Amino acid sequence: MTIEELTLEIYAERALTYFNSKHLVTWAVNILTLGYESNNLYILAGLDNASTEEREIYFWKSIVDLKLNIEKSEEDLMENYALNIAKKAIRKEVSIEYAFSQMLKIVFGSGYDYRYMAFYEIDEDLDYLKYDNSPLFNNGLTLENSKEFILEEMKIFVQMESLNIPREQREKCYCETCKNLTSPIMKNKFQLKKPFKYTALACGICGSDKLKYSNNHDVKRRIIEQSKKK
Ligand SMILES: [Zn+2]
Repeated sequence: MTIEELTLEIYAERALTYFNSKHLVTWAVNILTLGYESNNLYILAGLDNASTEEREIYFWKSIVDLKLNIEKSEEDLMENYALNIAKKAIRKEVSIEYAFSQMLKIVFGSGYDYRYMAFYEIDEDLDYLKYDNSPLFNNGLTLENSKEFILEEMKIFVQMESLNIPREQREKCYCETCKNLTSPIMKNKFQLKKPFKYTALACGICGSDKLKYSNNHDVKRRIIEQSKKK
């Protein structure tokens, strides 16, 4: 990684909750390894047992020394960071558990941004599964296949982000009757028991209620394929 990439990563991590300031020390070591030098960097690289306050002081001094000028919004930082973490997990450079825990921090740090919600829903479901309940959001997720499931979610996340798929597109359902991706509509339904009249989500094209929802991996892959064609 370049000095800019390393520094953007550390900025993003600082924006997350539960930041461990020891990462600032690792950052300094990495920057020194790239061949950059400054007294403050050397001091920071040696602050293994120092307080967060002390590490922060030398971090900002180092940033000044390095004349780094990085301006990015917190949202961009988080997005870059999330993408990097997911890519690293896919390349097996970090463990799935670590990448997943970072993704969950991003969910909270971003104020539950829709792009990361899938990871939150998986986490909720894993809780349900621990207590012998069935998953609420992700049919097919089990405690046994959770690693592969999360890895698949990371792959989907990277593809959706690199294709810049808008929210409206990501929330489409797949209709099993007419075999189209569709933005669902609310439809009045009738039955011979109470409640006689109720509303349900239905296909916006043919009106069928045989829908697969957008948290299904299969539906997500269809949405990705459709966006590629455009
Ligand atoms: Zn349909």
